[in-house]
Amino acid sequence: MTTDLYFNKEHQELRMLVRRFVDNEINPHVEAWEEARIFPAHELFGKMGDLGLLGLNYEEEYGGGGLDYWYQAVLLEEIGRAHCAGVPMAIAVQCDMATPALAEHGTAEQKEKFLRPAVEGKAVFSIGVSEPDAGSDVAAIRTKAEADGDHWVINGSKMWITNGTQADYITLLVRTDGRERGYRGMSLIIVPTDADGFTVSKKLEKMGNHSSDTAILSFDDVRVPKANTIGAEGMGFILQMQQFQVERLAASLMATSGMERIIEMTIQYCRERKTFKQPLINNQWIQFKLCELKTELEALKHLNYYCVRKFVAGQDMTREASMAKLKMGRLSREVADVCLQFHGGMGYVEEYPMARYFRDARLGSIGGGADEIMLGIIAKLDGLLD
Ligand SMILES: Cc1cc2nc3c(=O)[nH]c(=O)nc-3n(C[C@H](O)[C@H](O)[C@H](O)COP(=O)(O)OP(=O)(O)OC[C@H]3O[C@@H](n4cnc5c(N)ncnc54)[C@H](O)[C@@H]3O)c2cc1C
Repeated sequence: MTTDLYFNKEHQELRMLVRRFVDNEINPHVEAWEEARIFPAHELFGKMGDLGLLGLNYEEEYGGGGLDYWYQAVLLEEIGRAHCAGVPMAIAVQCDMATPALAEHGTAEQKEKFLRPAVEGKAVFSIGVSEPDAGSDVAAIRTKAEADGDHWVINGSKMWITNGTQADYITLLVRTDGRERGYRGMSLIIVPTDADGFTVSKKLEKMGNHSSDTAILSFDDVRVPKANTIGAEGMGFILQMQQFQVERLAASLMATSGMERIIEMTIQYCRERKTFKQPLINNQWIQFKLCELKTELEALKHLNYYCVRKFVAGQDMTREASMAKLKMGRLSREVADVCLQFHGGMGYVEEYPMARYFRDARLGSIGGGADEIMLGIIAKLDGLLD
């Protein structure tokens, strides 16, 4: 196994711990949580917090593991083996999307107040960037925070917010300098959801990721202390762009193990299923197609590991993390399509895991920055734009 070159005994022990956690605490409940269109985030995160799994790479001073991102990579790969994508996505929101800026740029007081409960699994976090009229174009967000003494007064709306109906805190990107548009004048602010004026306007019904709750949120004169601002006022866009790099790498790390699981499941199915008196796997076309997917998956895993190396070394991984996210989205779709095809009708029924994977995998090319946005970043960084 190639992973032995990257992961030592401690990593492997963590891998086994997380694998057992997924087998015992997530997989037995997936059917019920998918049907309920929500999973109990507080209960599950509490269990993860007790095992120290929600802040492996965050400072020990605030309850974290004080480890480097290789450990988080192991966690993400194993969480991605869950029999649905919704719960892994929610966990990644907590660890890799809503809290990296807080961990990196928060004050000691902020980390004690907000990061510690996130790491201990006592508080559920969301990341609030997208809006009804601003998804790919983050610079078009309109939710604004106006200063009133030592408080912000927040008005606006956020859309597509994962964990949105059960979060205790939202890491919210808002405009703080009165401008209507543009990259400048945004700030990241931690907003408690028990604040007056905060409401969940709607829980969205989605084609996949059913166990994850996704919501439209509304802010109507929500007062939040200015002390909840992460980093310098007006730096929110830059902090969010940095946070996106971790999010994109995390998404790619999680997705590879999901793909691996589905390819192995398909190989097994093709061994057992006979057509024309032969196991399906005896068809060279099927062998070749599956081996081609395995090869691409292996290549993606190595791109992920390269990103982790750069990240741990403190180097900018924007280009490579964008490539990994792009490839992850495209390859997940291909794996879903090819593997479903080789399952025949069994791929199309709900009793079999294939249909859920097919629906869940489609998000990879949209969430956290669509494929075209990744291509735009790569084109810019590689100097293809005038
Ligand atoms: C299930 C789910 C969970 C999510 N969770 C969160 C969350 O927790 N927090 C959060 O803030 N957001 C979240 N999102 C939002 C997600 O990040 C956005 O959906 C995504 O960034 C795309 O934005 P959009 O949907 O507004 O699409 P749009 O910006 O309207 O774009 C539509 C499509 O147009 C194309 N496109 C856009 N711009 C260009 C371009 N310049 N060139 C070429 N093509 C382009 C792309 O194909 C894109 O998919 C979530 C979304 C989903 C579906």
